Amino acid sequence: MSETVHWADVIAEDVLRRGNRHVVATGITPSGPIHIGNMREVVIADAVCRVLRDRGADVRLIYIADTYDPLRRAYPFLPDGYGEHIGKPLSEIPDPDGCCPNYAEHFLRPFLNSLGWLEVEITVYRADDMYKSGMYADLIGTALENRDGIAKTLAEVAGTSIPSSWSPLNPLCEQCGRITDAIVKGHVGKNVDYKCMCGHHGTADFSKGGGKLTWRVDWPARWKMLDITVEPFGKDHAVAGGSYDTGVRISREIYGHEPPYPIPFEHIFLKGKGKMSSSTGILVSIQEMLDVIPPEVLRHLFLRTKPEKHIEFDPGMPLLNLIDEYDRIHEWKIPFRHMVTIVQIAHDFDGVLEVLRRSGYDISDLNAIGQRSLNARNWLSKFAPPSVKFKVQETLPVGVKKLSQKQKLALGILADEIGRKKTAGELHDEIYKIAEEVGIDPSDVFKAVYVALLGKSSGPRAGWFLVSLEGNFLRKRLREASKA
Ligand SMILES: [Zn+2]
Ligand SMILES: [Zn+2]
Repeated sequence: MSETVHWADVIAEDVLRRGNRHVVATGITPSGPIHIGNMREVVIADAVCRVLRDRGADVRLIYIADTYDPLRRAYPFLPDGYGEHIGKPLSEIPDPDGCCPNYAEHFLRPFLNSLGWLEVEITVYRADDMYKSGMYADLIGTALENRDGIAKTLAEVAGTSIPSSWSPLNPLCEQCGRITDAIVKGHVGKNVDYKCMCGHHGTADFSKGGGKLTWRVDWPARWKMLDITVEPFGKDHAVAGGSYDTGVRISREIYGHEPPYPIPFEHIFLKGKGKMSSSTGILVSIQEMLDVIPPEVLRHLFLRTKPEKHIEFDPGMPLLNLIDEYDRIHEWKIPFRHMVTIVQIAHDFDGVLEVLRRSGYDISDLNAIGQRSLNARNWLSKFAPPSVKFKVQETLPVGVKKLSQKQKLALGILADEIGRKKTAGELHDEIYKIAEEVGIDPSDVFKAVYVALLGKSSGPRAGWFLVSLEGNFLRKRLREASKA
């Protein structure tokens, strides 16, 4: 563990130079299925928190869900008719599946559940609550008073020209429900006058959710509000002139707050497809992933890579290797790849236990074995390459007729060895001995074994596969094949 979180130790050391009380912030916009790339941010933040806590710091981990952000597009995963909601805050749009109070909540819930499974202790804030409850009111007031100074900073740092109609506040139009289309005309106290593109002219109370700060001002405002001292964020915010740079200036100059220690991190790429993103649909969702791997393995994937390095994620064979790597470190006795074999031999969970017992494994931890066998079945159905899949044939496959006399002879000798107390490794070695005895290449014997049992020329590692099968069945099948 210490080796894999080395980067977290380095960051924690830096952070501790700034003081002993910390608020570490994470967050995302729940505009679509939340994927494992989003999870990386939380795991990074959590890892730093854990080290800080170990070193005696007073640390809080928070998560801000940007539920008051507008819907940007009618994404391909949305039902027809969502075009009319573009520009409305996510918290004010109906759930596309109708199961949750609103759109934002629908995509947030599975993510919050997965945080529970990862045993991440986190305080969740929802932006719509923060805006509607008045938490932002004074910060919005300050931003409106300092409109010109902020505009000047944005122009200087981001190198963009700021139109004279620009305001740090985007009013929510009471007529059309959009938070993207109205222009501030003036403000008195907590009220702004606005003119919307829909034609409506109205007044909004920004202490009650009547508007939202534009992102580049919203971010430093929440640093101040929640006293945030450390924050991981996607590296696109970290580019020169990006929102972190402008946030730093606005935080110091307008809000008088020292900006948080930044931890920029790289994206996760899905093998062969590109950057994971909710809006493009290139993603592996958290739920899909947790169906296949235990949460602690997902954490291991993120911790073993420095935040600034991208992760190329391949849910096929490399995922299986990752699980086995994790298991070796943590001394879990049943290799996942063996589980993948076993669930294809056994018909149900009792069958799985039977095969494990036959293979000489300790089966006392029923919960863990149940979880792993479910993971293995899900991996097979969703991500496994065809080469890993097999089915033990119930009758003698016709392919055995094409085996050579020497291959058949080898199967006959192997049949006699079955049942003479052998471990998987010994049985595997036995196949090499038989090949030598008969005078053929070992690969031809392996091939014959797979043809006789699976009806194809390849399969799982032979020794381990053979000890998984029921002895009488195996002996009978190999004899039948040897006489075909
Ligand atoms: Zn829902
Ligand atoms: Zn409007």
